[in-house]
Amino acid sequence: MDQIKSAFDKDRNYIWHAMNRYSPDSKPLIIERADGVFVEDIEGVRYLDAMSGLWCVNSGYGRTEFADAAAEQLSKMAYFPMSQSHMPAIKLAEKLNDWLEGEYIIFFSNSGSEANETAFKIARQYHEQNGQSGRFKVISRYRSYHGNTMGALSATGQAQRKYKYEPLAAGFVHTVPPDCYHCPVNNNPENCNIECAGLLEKTINWEMNETVAAVIMEPYITGGGVLIQQDGYLKKVEKACKKSGALLIMDEVICGFGRTGKKFGFMHEGISPDIITMAKGITSGYLPLAATAVRKDIFDTFKGSEEYDHFRHVNTFGGNPAACALALRNLEVMEDERLIERSKSMGEQLLDIMKEMLSHSNVGDIRQKGLLMGIELVEDKITREPLNAGKVNQIIASCKSFGVLIGKNGDTVAGFNNVLTIAPPLTISTNQLQLLTDVVKKSINEVC
Ligand code: PLP
Repeated sequence: MDQIKSAFDKDRNYIWHAMNRYSPDSKPLIIERADGVFVEDIEGVRYLDAMSGLWCVNSGYGRTEFADAAAEQLSKMAYFPMSQSHMPAIKLAEKLNDWLEGEYIIFFSNSGSEANETAFKIARQYHEQNGQSGRFKVISRYRSYHGNTMGALSATGQAQRKYKYEPLAAGFVHTVPPDCYHCPVNNNPENCNIECAGLLEKTINWEMNETVAAVIMEPYITGGGVLIQQDGYLKKVEKACKKSGALLIMDEVICGFGRTGKKFGFMHEGISPDIITMAKGITSGYLPLAATAVRKDIFDTFKGSEEYDHFRHVNTFGGNPAACALALRNLEVMEDERLIERSKSMGEQLLDIMKEMLSHSNVGDIRQKGLLMGIELVEDKITREPLNAGKVNQIIASCKSFGVLIGKNGDTVAGFNNVLTIAPPLTISTNQLQLLTDVVKKSINEVC
Protein backbone atom coordinates (compact mmCIF):
# COMPACT_ATOMS: atom_id res chain seq x y z
CA MET A 1 0.00 0.00 0.00
CA ASP A 2 2.82 2.36 0.97
CA GLN A 3 4.52 1.57 -2.31
CA ILE A 4 1.40 2.60 -4.23
CA LYS A 5 1.02 5.83 -2.28
CA SER A 6 4.66 6.58 -2.82
CA ALA A 7 4.29 5.99 -6.60
CA PHE A 8 1.49 8.58 -6.73
CA ASP A 9 3.51 11.03 -4.62
CA LYS A 10 6.56 10.63 -6.81
CA ASP A 11 4.47 10.95 -9.95
CA ARG A 12 3.12 14.24 -8.62
CA ASN A 13 6.61 15.42 -7.73
CA TYR A 14 8.47 14.39 -10.86
CA ILE A 15 6.22 13.95 -13.89
CA TRP A 16 4.95 16.71 -16.17
CA HIS A 17 1.94 15.05 -17.81
CA ALA A 18 0.80 15.72 -21.35
CA MET A 19 -2.34 17.89 -21.65
CA ASN A 20 -3.46 17.55 -18.02
CA ARG A 21 -4.82 20.41 -16.03
CA TYR A 22 -3.49 20.13 -12.51
CA SER A 23 -5.61 19.92 -9.43
CA PRO A 24 -4.49 18.84 -5.95
CA ASP A 25 -6.51 15.61 -6.17
CA SER A 26 -5.54 14.68 -9.74
CA LYS A 27 -4.49 11.05 -9.83
CA PRO A 28 -3.20 9.55 -13.07
CA LEU A 29 -3.63 5.94 -14.06
CA ILE A 30 -0.27 4.31 -13.41
CA ILE A 31 -0.42 1.34 -15.76
CA GLU A 32 1.79 -1.59 -14.95
CA ARG A 33 0.87 -4.38 -17.34
CA ALA A 34 -1.23 -4.88 -20.44
CA ASP A 35 -2.50 -7.75 -22.51
CA GLY A 36 -4.75 -7.88 -25.57
CA VAL A 37 -7.24 -5.03 -25.20
CA PHE A 38 -6.77 -4.72 -21.42
CA VAL A 39 -4.45 -2.61 -19.29
CA GLU A 40 -3.97 -3.00 -15.54
CA ASP A 41 -2.91 -0.33 -13.06
CA ILE A 42 -0.62 -0.58 -10.04
CA GLU A 43 -3.64 -1.19 -7.81
CA GLY A 44 -4.62 -4.24 -9.89
CA VAL A 45 -7.64 -2.59 -11.57
CA ARG A 46 -8.17 -3.72 -15.16
CA TYR A 47 -9.56 -1.57 -17.94
CA LEU A 48 -10.61 -2.28 -21.50
CA ASP A 49 -8.54 0.30 -23.37
CA ALA A 50 -10.98 1.47 -26.02
CA MET A 51 -8.52 4.14 -27.23
CA SER A 52 -5.54 1.82 -27.94
CA GLY A 53 -3.39 4.06 -25.74
CA LEU A 54 -3.24 7.16 -27.92
CA TRP A 55 -4.87 5.60 -31.02
CA CYS A 56 -1.80 3.46 -31.61
CA VAL A 57 -1.81 -0.06 -30.13
CA ASN A 58 -3.49 -1.45 -33.26
CA SER A 59 -2.23 -5.03 -32.85
CA GLY A 60 -3.09 -5.13 -29.14
CA TYR A 61 -0.93 -5.33 -26.02
CA GLY A 62 1.30 -8.11 -24.77
CA ARG A 63 2.78 -9.38 -28.03
CA THR A 64 5.93 -11.14 -26.89
CA GLU A 65 6.88 -11.77 -30.54
CA PHE A 66 7.31 -8.00 -30.92
CA ALA A 67 9.53 -7.85 -27.83
CA ASP A 68 11.53 -10.79 -29.24
CA ALA A 69 12.00 -9.08 -32.62
CA ALA A 70 13.30 -5.92 -30.92
CA ALA A 71 15.50 -7.82 -28.44
CA GLU A 72 17.05 -9.94 -31.17
CA GLN A 73 17.89 -6.85 -33.19
CA LEU A 74 19.27 -5.00 -30.15
CA SER A 75 21.64 -7.88 -29.39
CA LYS A 76 22.75 -8.13 -33.01
CA MET A 77 23.14 -4.43 -33.90
CA ALA A 78 21.57 -1.78 -31.72
CA TYR A 79 22.19 1.39 -33.66
CA PHE A 80 23.53 2.92 -36.81
CA PRO A 81 22.49 6.27 -38.32
CA MET A 82 20.27 6.39 -41.38
CA SER A 83 22.75 8.54 -43.27
CA GLN A 84 24.03 4.99 -43.95
CA SER A 85 21.75 1.96 -43.80
CA HIS A 86 20.85 -1.34 -42.17
CA MET A 87 18.76 -4.41 -43.03
CA PRO A 88 15.76 -3.81 -40.71
CA ALA A 89 15.17 -0.39 -42.33
CA ILE A 90 15.59 -1.81 -45.84
CA LYS A 91 13.17 -4.68 -45.17
CA LEU A 92 10.62 -2.38 -43.58
CA ALA A 93 10.83 0.16 -46.42
CA GLU A 94 10.21 -2.66 -48.90
CA LYS A 95 7.23 -3.90 -46.88
CA LEU A 96 5.79 -0.37 -46.63
CA ASN A 97 5.98 -0.12 -50.41
CA ASP A 98 3.89 -3.31 -50.67
CA TRP A 99 1.37 -1.85 -48.26
CA LEU A 100 1.27 1.52 -50.03
CA GLU A 101 0.73 -0.14 -53.42
CA GLY A 102 2.93 2.45 -55.13
CA GLU A 103 6.55 3.42 -55.57
CA TYR A 104 7.70 5.37 -52.56
CA ILE A 105 11.05 6.24 -50.99
CA ILE A 106 10.88 6.16 -47.21
CA PHE A 107 12.45 8.71 -44.86
CA PHE A 108 12.40 7.47 -41.25
CA SER A 109 11.97 9.59 -38.12
CA ASN A 110 10.54 9.12 -34.62
CA SER A 111 7.11 10.69 -34.27
CA GLY A 112 4.13 11.80 -36.30
CA SER A 113 5.08 15.44 -35.78
CA GLU A 114 8.55 14.83 -37.19
CA ALA A 115 7.15 12.86 -40.12
CA ASN A 116 5.01 15.89 -41.00
CA GLU A 117 7.88 18.38 -40.52
CA THR A 118 9.91 16.21 -42.88
CA ALA A 119 7.09 16.28 -45.43
CA PHE A 120 6.84 20.09 -45.32
CA LYS A 121 10.56 20.54 -45.88
CA ILE A 122 10.56 18.00 -48.73
CA ALA A 123 7.60 19.78 -50.36
CA ARG A 124 9.26 23.21 -50.18
CA GLN A 125 12.62 21.96 -51.42
CA TYR A 126 10.98 19.90 -54.18
CA HIS A 127 9.30 22.98 -55.65
CA GLU A 128 12.43 25.06 -55.24
CA GLN A 129 14.44 22.47 -57.18
CA ASN A 130 11.67 22.12 -59.72
CA GLY A 131 11.97 25.78 -60.69
CA GLN A 132 9.02 26.97 -58.57
CA SER A 133 10.70 28.66 -55.67
CA GLY A 134 7.61 30.79 -54.92
CA ARG A 135 5.72 27.77 -53.59
CA PHE A 136 6.05 27.72 -49.83
CA LYS A 137 2.52 27.71 -48.35
CA VAL A 138 0.93 24.70 -46.73
CA ILE A 139 -2.86 24.46 -46.64
CA SER A 140 -4.62 22.37 -44.02
CA ARG A 141 -8.05 22.31 -42.41
CA TYR A 142 -9.49 23.71 -39.22
CA ARG A 143 -10.08 21.00 -36.61
CA SER A 144 -7.12 18.99 -37.87
CA TYR A 145 -4.19 17.97 -35.66
CA HIS A 146 -0.79 17.41 -37.24
CA GLY A 147 1.60 17.44 -34.28
CA ASN A 148 3.21 19.50 -31.56
CA THR A 149 6.39 20.85 -33.21
CA MET A 150 6.41 24.34 -34.67
CA GLY A 151 5.64 23.42 -38.31
CA ALA A 152 3.24 20.61 -37.48
CA LEU A 153 1.49 22.81 -34.94
CA SER A 154 1.27 25.61 -37.50
CA ALA A 155 -0.56 23.20 -39.82
CA THR A 156 -2.84 22.14 -36.97
CA GLY A 157 -6.28 23.73 -37.15
CA GLN A 158 -7.14 23.75 -33.45
CA ALA A 159 -6.73 27.19 -31.89
CA GLN A 160 -6.60 25.90 -28.33
CA ARG A 161 -3.53 23.84 -29.11
CA LYS A 162 -1.71 26.93 -30.40
CA TYR A 163 -2.91 29.52 -27.92
CA LYS A 164 0.03 31.08 -26.01
CA TYR A 165 2.61 29.55 -28.38
CA GLU A 166 1.99 31.92 -31.26
CA PRO A 167 3.28 33.32 -33.54
CA LEU A 168 4.14 30.03 -35.17
CA ALA A 169 5.69 29.32 -38.58
CA ALA A 170 4.72 31.54 -41.52
CA GLY A 171 2.98 30.25 -44.63
CA PHE A 172 0.39 27.96 -43.05
CA VAL A 173 -3.19 28.58 -44.18
CA HIS A 174 -6.41 26.89 -43.06
CA THR A 175 -9.67 26.10 -44.76
CA VAL A 176 -12.98 24.52 -43.73
CA PRO A 177 -13.17 20.88 -42.67
CA PRO A 178 -15.69 18.40 -44.09
CA ASP A 179 -17.87 18.49 -41.00
CA CYS A 180 -21.10 16.99 -42.34
CA TYR A 181 -23.05 17.30 -39.04
CA HIS A 182 -22.35 21.06 -39.08
CA CYS A 183 -21.99 21.41 -42.84
CA PRO A 184 -19.91 24.51 -43.64
CA VAL A 185 -22.14 25.25 -46.65
CA ASN A 186 -25.41 24.33 -44.92
CA ASN A 187 -26.25 21.39 -47.13
CA ASN A 188 -28.02 18.20 -46.10
CA PRO A 189 -26.30 14.86 -46.71
CA GLU A 190 -28.94 14.19 -49.41
CA ASN A 191 -27.96 17.20 -51.50
CA CYS A 192 -24.26 17.16 -50.67
CA ASN A 193 -22.11 17.99 -53.62
CA ILE A 194 -18.94 17.87 -51.56
CA GLU A 195 -18.75 21.64 -51.82
CA CYS A 196 -16.32 21.74 -48.86
CA ALA A 197 -13.71 20.17 -51.14
CA GLY A 198 -14.58 22.93 -53.62
CA LEU A 199 -13.84 25.48 -50.88
CA LEU A 200 -10.45 23.87 -50.37
CA GLU A 201 -9.78 24.32 -54.09
CA LYS A 202 -10.92 27.94 -53.81
CA THR A 203 -8.56 28.46 -50.86
CA ILE A 204 -5.67 27.28 -53.02
CA ASN A 205 -6.75 29.74 -55.72
CA TRP A 206 -7.31 32.60 -53.29
CA GLU A 207 -3.80 32.07 -51.93
CA MET A 208 -2.51 32.00 -55.55
CA ASN A 209 -1.68 28.58 -56.95
CA GLU A 210 1.92 29.46 -57.55
CA THR A 211 2.56 30.11 -53.84
CA VAL A 212 1.15 26.82 -52.55
CA ALA A 213 3.63 24.02 -51.86
CA ALA A 214 1.31 21.42 -50.37
CA VAL A 215 -2.03 20.50 -48.90
CA ILE A 216 -1.89 18.29 -45.81
CA MET A 217 -4.82 16.36 -44.44
CA GLU A 218 -5.79 13.22 -42.65
CA PRO A 219 -8.03 11.04 -44.82
CA TYR A 220 -10.59 11.39 -42.00
CA ILE A 221 -10.11 13.97 -39.26
CA THR A 222 -9.64 11.97 -36.06
CA GLY A 223 -8.57 14.08 -33.07
CA GLY A 224 -10.77 16.97 -34.23
CA GLY A 225 -13.90 14.91 -33.52
CA VAL A 226 -13.88 11.97 -35.97
CA LEU A 227 -15.25 13.60 -39.11
CA ILE A 228 -16.23 11.04 -41.73
CA GLN A 229 -16.94 12.89 -44.94
CA GLN A 230 -18.79 11.58 -47.95
CA ASP A 231 -16.95 9.44 -50.50
CA GLY A 232 -15.64 11.53 -53.36
CA TYR A 233 -14.09 14.20 -51.12
CA LEU A 234 -10.54 12.85 -51.31
CA LYS A 235 -10.79 12.38 -55.07
CA LYS A 236 -11.91 15.99 -55.44
CA VAL A 237 -9.04 17.18 -53.24
CA GLU A 238 -6.54 15.11 -55.21
CA LYS A 239 -7.85 16.63 -58.44
CA ALA A 240 -7.58 20.17 -57.03
CA CYS A 241 -4.00 19.56 -55.90
CA LYS A 242 -2.99 18.13 -59.28
CA LYS A 243 -4.59 21.07 -61.08
CA SER A 244 -2.84 23.64 -58.91
CA GLY A 245 0.55 21.91 -58.71
CA ALA A 246 0.41 21.56 -54.90
CA LEU A 247 1.63 18.28 -53.43
CA LEU A 248 -0.94 16.25 -51.51
CA ILE A 249 0.37 15.05 -48.14
CA MET A 250 -1.78 12.42 -46.43
CA ASP A 251 -1.30 12.33 -42.68
CA GLU A 252 -1.95 8.66 -41.92
CA VAL A 253 -0.56 8.88 -38.38
CA ILE A 254 -3.86 7.65 -36.90
CA CYS A 255 -5.79 6.40 -39.94
CA GLY A 256 -2.95 4.18 -41.19
CA PHE A 257 -2.31 0.55 -40.36
CA GLY A 258 -5.89 -0.62 -40.43
CA ARG A 259 -7.61 1.86 -38.15
CA THR A 260 -10.31 2.71 -40.72
CA GLY A 261 -10.69 -0.79 -42.20
CA LYS A 262 -8.14 -0.38 -45.01
CA LYS A 263 -4.36 -0.50 -44.81
CA PHE A 264 -4.35 3.29 -45.17
CA GLY A 265 -7.29 5.67 -45.02
CA PHE A 266 -6.64 7.20 -48.45
CA MET A 267 -7.27 3.76 -49.98
CA HIS A 268 -11.01 4.14 -49.38
CA GLU A 269 -11.03 6.39 -52.44
CA GLY A 270 -8.18 4.86 -54.42
CA ILE A 271 -6.20 8.10 -54.63
CA SER A 272 -2.39 8.33 -54.94
CA PRO A 273 -1.01 10.92 -52.52
CA ASP A 274 2.38 12.48 -53.25
CA ILE A 275 3.60 12.08 -49.68
CA ILE A 276 2.25 9.86 -46.90
CA THR A 277 3.21 10.34 -43.26
CA MET A 278 2.85 7.62 -40.65
CA ALA A 279 3.75 6.82 -37.04
CA LYS A 280 1.72 5.34 -34.11
CA GLY A 281 0.34 2.09 -35.63
CA ILE A 282 3.53 1.39 -37.57
CA THR A 283 4.90 -0.30 -34.43
CA SER A 284 1.48 -0.57 -32.74
CA GLY A 285 2.98 1.87 -30.23
CA TYR A 286 5.56 -0.62 -28.94
CA LEU A 287 8.55 1.58 -29.90
CA PRO A 288 8.82 5.08 -31.38
CA LEU A 289 9.08 5.14 -35.16
CA ALA A 290 7.69 7.29 -37.95
CA ALA A 291 8.01 7.43 -41.70
CA THR A 292 7.51 9.91 -44.53
CA ALA A 293 6.85 8.05 -47.80
CA VAL A 294 7.63 10.16 -50.85
CA ARG A 295 6.71 9.40 -54.48
CA LYS A 296 9.79 8.29 -56.39
CA ASP A 297 9.68 11.05 -59.01
CA ILE A 298 9.65 13.69 -56.25
CA PHE A 299 12.69 12.04 -54.72
CA ASP A 300 14.41 12.22 -58.12
CA THR A 301 14.55 16.01 -57.94
CA PHE A 302 16.79 15.60 -54.89
CA LYS A 303 19.44 13.86 -56.96
CA GLY A 304 20.57 17.03 -58.73
CA SER A 305 24.22 17.98 -59.11
CA GLU A 306 24.06 21.32 -57.25
CA GLU A 307 25.73 21.39 -53.85
CA TYR A 308 22.47 21.87 -51.95
CA ASP A 309 20.21 19.58 -54.00
CA HIS A 310 20.21 16.77 -51.46
CA PHE A 311 17.82 16.72 -48.50
CA ARG A 312 19.82 18.31 -45.70
CA HIS A 313 17.73 16.85 -42.91
CA VAL A 314 19.00 14.46 -40.29
CA ASN A 315 17.81 12.93 -37.06
CA THR A 316 19.77 10.70 -34.71
CA PHE A 317 17.20 8.07 -33.91
CA GLY A 318 14.91 7.83 -36.95
CA GLY A 319 14.83 4.31 -38.35
CA ASN A 320 16.20 2.78 -35.17
CA PRO A 321 17.01 -0.87 -36.06
CA ALA A 322 15.03 -2.43 -33.20
CA ALA A 323 12.00 -0.23 -33.97
CA CYS A 324 12.20 -1.20 -37.67
CA ALA A 325 12.51 -4.92 -36.87
CA LEU A 326 9.53 -4.65 -34.53
CA ALA A 327 7.49 -2.68 -37.09
CA LEU A 328 8.14 -5.35 -39.72
CA ARG A 329 6.93 -8.04 -37.31
CA ASN A 330 3.89 -5.89 -36.55
CA LEU A 331 2.95 -5.66 -40.22
CA GLU A 332 3.45 -9.41 -40.66
CA VAL A 333 1.18 -10.11 -37.69
CA MET A 334 -1.45 -7.75 -39.12
CA GLU A 335 -1.33 -9.70 -42.37
CA ASP A 336 -1.31 -13.17 -40.74
CA GLU A 337 -4.22 -12.32 -38.43
CA ARG A 338 -6.08 -10.33 -41.12
CA LEU A 339 -6.40 -7.39 -38.75
CA ILE A 340 -7.29 -4.92 -41.49
CA GLU A 341 -10.30 -7.00 -42.52
CA ARG A 342 -11.09 -7.46 -38.84
CA SER A 343 -11.13 -3.69 -38.31
CA LYS A 344 -13.70 -3.37 -41.07
CA SER A 345 -16.01 -6.13 -39.81
CA MET A 346 -15.71 -5.33 -36.10
CA GLY A 347 -16.23 -1.64 -36.93
CA GLU A 348 -19.49 -2.55 -38.65
CA GLN A 349 -20.55 -4.53 -35.57
CA LEU A 350 -19.65 -1.57 -33.38
CA LEU A 351 -21.86 0.72 -35.44
CA ASP A 352 -24.69 -1.83 -35.52
CA ILE A 353 -24.73 -1.96 -31.74
CA MET A 354 -24.26 1.75 -31.11
CA LYS A 355 -26.65 3.18 -33.68
CA GLU A 356 -29.73 2.51 -31.49
CA MET A 357 -28.33 5.32 -29.32
CA LEU A 358 -29.27 7.78 -32.07
CA SER A 359 -32.76 7.73 -30.57
CA HIS A 360 -31.35 9.22 -27.34
CA SER A 361 -32.09 12.94 -27.14
CA ASN A 362 -28.45 13.85 -26.43
CA VAL A 363 -26.79 11.69 -29.08
CA GLY A 364 -26.62 13.90 -32.15
CA ASP A 365 -24.47 11.91 -34.51
CA ILE A 366 -22.49 8.68 -34.64
CA ARG A 367 -19.64 8.48 -37.13
CA GLN A 368 -17.64 5.36 -37.89
CA LYS A 369 -15.02 4.05 -40.27
CA GLY A 370 -13.47 0.69 -39.33
CA LEU A 371 -12.62 0.68 -35.64
CA LEU A 372 -12.73 4.45 -35.43
CA MET A 373 -15.86 5.95 -33.94
CA GLY A 374 -17.03 9.38 -32.78
CA ILE A 375 -20.28 9.93 -30.86
CA GLU A 376 -21.27 13.59 -30.93
CA LEU A 377 -23.23 14.58 -27.84
CA VAL A 378 -25.57 17.54 -27.97
CA GLU A 379 -27.86 19.49 -25.64
CA ASP A 380 -30.46 19.78 -28.33
CA LYS A 381 -30.83 17.88 -31.57
CA ILE A 382 -32.31 20.85 -33.43
CA THR A 383 -29.65 23.43 -32.55
CA ARG A 384 -26.89 20.79 -32.31
CA GLU A 385 -25.44 22.77 -29.44
CA PRO A 386 -22.69 20.74 -27.70
CA LEU A 387 -23.55 18.83 -24.55
CA ASN A 388 -22.38 20.53 -21.38
CA ALA A 389 -18.68 19.72 -20.82
CA GLY A 390 -19.34 18.55 -17.26
CA LYS A 391 -21.73 15.88 -18.51
CA VAL A 392 -19.28 14.71 -21.18
CA ASN A 393 -16.64 14.31 -18.48
CA GLN A 394 -19.12 12.45 -16.26
CA ILE A 395 -19.83 9.97 -19.06
CA ILE A 396 -16.13 9.31 -19.49
CA ALA A 397 -15.67 8.93 -15.74
CA SER A 398 -18.63 6.57 -15.60
CA CYS A 399 -17.12 4.39 -18.37
CA LYS A 400 -13.89 4.31 -16.40
CA SER A 401 -15.70 3.30 -13.23
CA PHE A 402 -17.17 0.36 -15.20
CA GLY A 403 -13.69 -0.57 -16.46
CA VAL A 404 -13.65 0.99 -19.95
CA LEU A 405 -11.36 3.80 -21.10
CA ILE A 406 -12.74 5.98 -23.90
CA GLY A 407 -11.62 9.38 -25.19
CA LYS A 408 -13.17 12.75 -26.04
CA ASN A 409 -12.34 15.13 -28.83
CA GLY A 410 -14.10 17.72 -30.86
CA ASP A 411 -14.11 21.25 -32.09
CA THR A 412 -11.38 22.54 -29.84
CA VAL A 413 -11.25 25.76 -31.90
CA ALA A 414 -14.58 26.54 -30.34
CA GLY A 415 -13.64 24.90 -27.06
CA PHE A 416 -16.02 21.95 -27.45
CA ASN A 417 -14.88 18.44 -26.63
CA ASN A 418 -18.28 16.84 -27.06
CA VAL A 419 -17.36 13.89 -29.25
CA LEU A 420 -16.75 10.60 -27.44
CA THR A 421 -14.03 8.69 -29.26
CA ILE A 422 -13.63 4.94 -29.51
CA ALA A 423 -10.66 3.31 -31.26
CA PRO A 424 -9.88 -0.05 -29.64
CA PRO A 425 -7.11 -2.46 -30.69
CA LEU A 426 -8.05 -4.17 -33.96
CA THR A 427 -7.89 -7.51 -32.14
CA ILE A 428 -11.00 -6.77 -30.07
CA SER A 429 -13.36 -9.76 -29.83
CA THR A 430 -17.15 -9.76 -30.14
CA ASN A 431 -17.54 -10.26 -26.37
CA GLN A 432 -15.15 -7.43 -25.61
CA LEU A 433 -17.01 -5.20 -28.08
CA GLN A 434 -20.23 -6.08 -26.28
CA LEU A 435 -18.69 -5.12 -22.93
CA LEU A 436 -17.40 -1.84 -24.36
CA THR A 437 -20.70 -0.85 -25.96
CA ASP A 438 -22.77 -1.93 -22.93
CA VAL A 439 -20.67 0.35 -20.74
CA VAL A 440 -20.79 3.33 -23.12
CA LYS A 441 -24.57 3.03 -23.54
CA LYS A 442 -25.14 2.58 -19.80
CA SER A 443 -22.95 5.60 -19.02
CA ILE A 444 -24.70 7.89 -21.52
CA ASN A 445 -28.10 6.74 -20.20
CA GLU A 446 -27.08 7.27 -16.58
CA VAL A 447 -25.65 10.76 -17.03
CA CYS A 448 -28.15 12.15 -19.57
N1 PLP B 1 -0.82 13.62 -37.01
C1 PLP B 1 -1.94 13.16 -36.42
C2 PLP B 1 -3.17 12.97 -37.27
C3 PLP B 1 -1.97 12.87 -35.06
O1 PLP B 1 -3.09 12.46 -34.49
C4 PLP B 1 -0.79 13.05 -34.31
C5 PLP B 1 -0.78 12.74 -32.87
O2 PLP B 1 -1.74 12.41 -32.26
C6 PLP B 1 0.34 13.54 -34.96
C7 PLP B 1 0.31 13.80 -36.29
C8 PLP B 1 1.60 13.77 -34.17
O3 PLP B 1 2.16 12.54 -33.83
P1 PLP B 1 3.18 12.45 -32.59
O4 PLP B 1 2.38 12.65 -31.35
O5 PLP B 1 3.74 11.07 -32.73
O6 PLP B 1 4.20 13.50 -32.82
